[in-house]
Amino acid sequence: MQPIYQSCGCGSGTKFKFCCLRKPAEDVLQVSKKFRIFECLIANEEWQEFGMSTALVSRKIVDDRLICAVYCIDMYCLGVKDTFALVNITIDEYLELRGNFKNRFEMTMIDYEDCRSLVLGAVDFARSLGFEPNEDWRDSQFVIEAERAYEPKFEFGKDGKPLYIQGPSDDPGEIISTLKSGNHDFAVAAPMR
Ligand SMILES: [Zn+2]
Repeated sequence: MQPIYQSCGCGSGTKFKFCCLRKPAEDVLQVSKKFRIFECLIANEEWQEFGMSTALVSRKIVDDRLICAVYCIDMYCLGVKDTFALVNITIDEYLELRGNFKNRFEMTMIDYEDCRSLVLGAVDFARSLGFEPNEDWRDSQFVIEAERAYEPKFEFGKDGKPLYIQGPSDDPGEIISTLKSGNHDFAVAAPMR
């Protein structure tokens, strides 16, 4: 059966063609928790070694249509530095996106709840320092259920304090001044590359 004639993954009981296919992307994202997780991947090496990582979360709407969100996180300081969410992409489009990340990082499967603990924990840690997530978090937060509690199982910061590692599109002066204004004991490291 063509995907558009399948019953919509949101659980409405209506065919996809007459349900979420017709809705604006923002509306579908807001109910994204209704769609079951397709897969969850993380750039594992970057996470373990540098506290920087990229997480990829996808959900199935119908066969061959997915929701996908990407979160670039800094566990040492800034939280979600970059993020975006896509709605109604085909499996092929998703695989191409995933392939692009796999070319740059070693992406490994991660448990969805662990992924939530990592991304949402990074957001909360950064907020405690005065940093809000990237503005596109407004949409992508729903894919990872930001409103639901998560298990605090990871440590943030490096050796118990924030470590700011300068990225290519940062404004280091502003970031350091935010860290200073919060009276945090923090460290600064040279840019990664
Ligand atoms: Zn629907």
